[in-house]
Amino acid sequence: MSDATLCVHHPEVSSEGYASLAVPTHRASTIVYPDGESFLNRAARGADGYTYGLHGTPTTRTLAEQISRLHGGARTLIVPSGQAAVALTTLALLVPGERVLIPDNVYPPVRSLCAEFLAPRGIDHAVYDPMIGAGIGEIIDARTRLLWIEAPGSGSMEVPDVPALIAAAKARGAYVGCDNTWATALLFKPLEHGADIVAEALTKYVGGHSDLLLGSITVADMALHARLHALLAALGIGVSPDECALALRGIETMPVRLAHVGRVAEDFARRLAARADLAAVRHPALADSPGHAAFRRDFKGGSGLFSVVLPAKACERLGSALSELKIFAIGASWGGTRSLVAPMEIAPLRTATRWPYDGPVLRISIGLEDPAELWDDLTALLDRLTS
Ligand SMILES: *Cc1c(COP(=O)(O)O)cnc(C)c1O
Repeated sequence: MSDATLCVHHPEVSSEGYASLAVPTHRASTIVYPDGESFLNRAARGADGYTYGLHGTPTTRTLAEQISRLHGGARTLIVPSGQAAVALTTLALLVPGERVLIPDNVYPPVRSLCAEFLAPRGIDHAVYDPMIGAGIGEIIDARTRLLWIEAPGSGSMEVPDVPALIAAAKARGAYVGCDNTWATALLFKPLEHGADIVAEALTKYVGGHSDLLLGSITVADMALHARLHALLAALGIGVSPDECALALRGIETMPVRLAHVGRVAEDFARRLAARADLAAVRHPALADSPGHAAFRRDFKGGSGLFSVVLPAKACERLGSALSELKIFAIGASWGGTRSLVAPMEIAPLRTATRWPYDGPVLRISIGLEDPAELWDDLTALLDRLTS
């Protein structure tokens, strides 16, 4: 072989005796075939075969399988973001003339997807009160193909009665999808309650270090997998094995990280609930947080994200008070090692329910810093905002 050919033909080296604990990062666009026949028959390799890098490499499949096992699902599709997980599921299941139901506390870009993208294309949506429970049955009409649940809403923290919502939807023949980003499979498993689909932002706790974007769609059966796989192939959507390798690293420590931030967040929420100068503390473990009974019944525990509702007068000081934070960073997204606060306005987003407070909301994501230093930083912030 000439030098030019040697440059593109990598030598085969022995891997005998090589056993690593790390999942190798397999990158590929082209998949090569041992002979002409197997290339011509490549469609017969089926959903789990390798045909083209876009549809998965052993690295992406390892992450998918790990999430499937955690949820008890048939298969998982890894997509570029959590938002993509919700959007692609919705696109795969609905055709014009049909309707999707979303909760009033839904992740806000999902509301935009429905109102601004799906509605002009003839796919209808309705927004429901997340606390409606079995009453959802009255809203599910013959056109309703999919009910989305978010448990809990990631800003306002209501925990819906998931089994009641699922039972009503199933009785009327609608699919149920659950955005389970807050709890992860470690704290809540929607498929065990009869949901058809779990969507998660792996960006948050699975990634765990604020440096990647990925989403997962875990389905209960192979028919759903086939529909989603077909849509992803048609739209040309796949993910980078490098991102998946980071997620595979992140998921190893997720149980330890989640247990820690869950404990600190609940402790902080309880201590903040004792303050008289806050309008409310929203954490599902607090008895007066909406859906507390469902949370205790259905969830193994809480993660690191909760919200504080400030008095109305805090509005004008918000910018300057946040700027003095020392340990907390200011930013959206969450689930990483750094603690974050994000100010939010919830009232303007609501269409099916009335948000009962007029002050701003501070969403707090607990990270891995020293809890005592976090507590001092947070309480100093709240003192500045309420004094
Ligand atoms: C962050 C988030 C998403 C979107 O995830 P991205 O990966 O950032 O697109 C969806 N749902 C919930 C509940 C989230 O918190």
